[in-house]
Amino acid sequence: MAKICITWVAVLAIAALAAQAQTAQPATHHWAIVVHGGAGVIERATMKPETEAAYRASMKQATEAGAKVLDSGGSSLDAIEATIHVLEDDPLFNAGRGAVFTAEGKNELDAAIMDGSNLKAGAVAGVTRTRHPISLARAVMDKSPHVMLVGAGADSFAASVGLEQVDPSYFFTERRWQSLVRQLKKEGRPIPPRPAGAPPAPPAPVAEIEPPDAHKYGTVGVVALDRQGNIAAGTSTGGTQAKQWGRVGDSPIIGAGTYASNQSCAVSATGTGEYFIRLGIAREVCNLVYFKGMPLQQAADQVIHKELDAIHGDGGIIAITPDGQLAWSFNTPGMYRAKLSEGGKLEIGIYNDEP
Ligand code: ASP
Repeated sequence: MAKICITWVAVLAIAALAAQAQTAQPATHHWAIVVHGGAGVIERATMKPETEAAYRASMKQATEAGAKVLDSGGSSLDAIEATIHVLEDDPLFNAGRGAVFTAEGKNELDAAIMDGSNLKAGAVAGVTRTRHPISLARAVMDKSPHVMLVGAGADSFAASVGLEQVDPSYFFTERRWQSLVRQLKKEGRPIPPRPAGAPPAPPAPVAEIEPPDAHKYGTVGVVALDRQGNIAAGTSTGGTQAKQWGRVGDSPIIGAGTYASNQSCAVSATGTGEYFIRLGIAREVCNLVYFKGMPLQQAADQVIHKELDAIHGDGGIIAITPDGQLAWSFNTPGMYRAKLSEGGKLEIGIYNDEP
């Protein structure tokens, strides 16, 4: 009797496995992820070893957060959100907490996300209360009929879909504040009052962890390929320090700082946004791949080292294709960057003399 039962259990288990194999999506793609943490005048000679170590550790932590999602079969969009959450929470980066200040002493945050499988996209600009702007961009894509929301309206939409809201002082960091004050003084512009809710000013200036102006960028971005073969791109930023008049850069502009299409590639950019908007950089890279059949790295280099150079723009991009090509290209002395493919080794770079 016992023998018959065991046989039946075995038969049922085999049948269940066979059914699962029929319904499960074949995992035909090896996942991959590329991350940037901003480009700028980031040079070995002026970088303190402990600062460099902190950036490398943060890039590793963020990339691994996305890789974990992809490795468990999650979508490229989910991987991007998970990676950017880590970077938005990390005060080292100019996104979420740790964002640069506007000339009026505010943190105004921009973000965008795009799904290469269906060309859906979501973007926000000038957000001041939503803890994770990348999740708000995702909600605009998934839960609204729109592509882009700005300012207080975007924050109120975030609250309406249950995204965490914070007091604007949550984004305050002493280092960014003092960096703003230094820049405004140098340029002879008025210094705004210390923001409400910020901790009391320390008696002495906080140590600069980078040389002045080294890191006026610091935007974060991710491109990812999941096991289903879908690519996506996401970018989050505080924009440029001391920006005025509701200025918005390229990061939340679909086609400029962020773009993804399974037909070609996914791109996230960082740099002086005005140039990236004028060239429609992210879409430009994908057009070279799509219309000219260029390998991804060649397309990335063509856009950064020829087209961006030609108009004296500065910055860089990361990119990925559905067939697993990964690329980065930048014309600044450095760009915080990392990449990892399924079964491969994590590569992290900062300076332009690294691979
Ligand atoms: N591209 C961003 C902007 O112009 C800034 C950056 O990448 O750091 O807003």
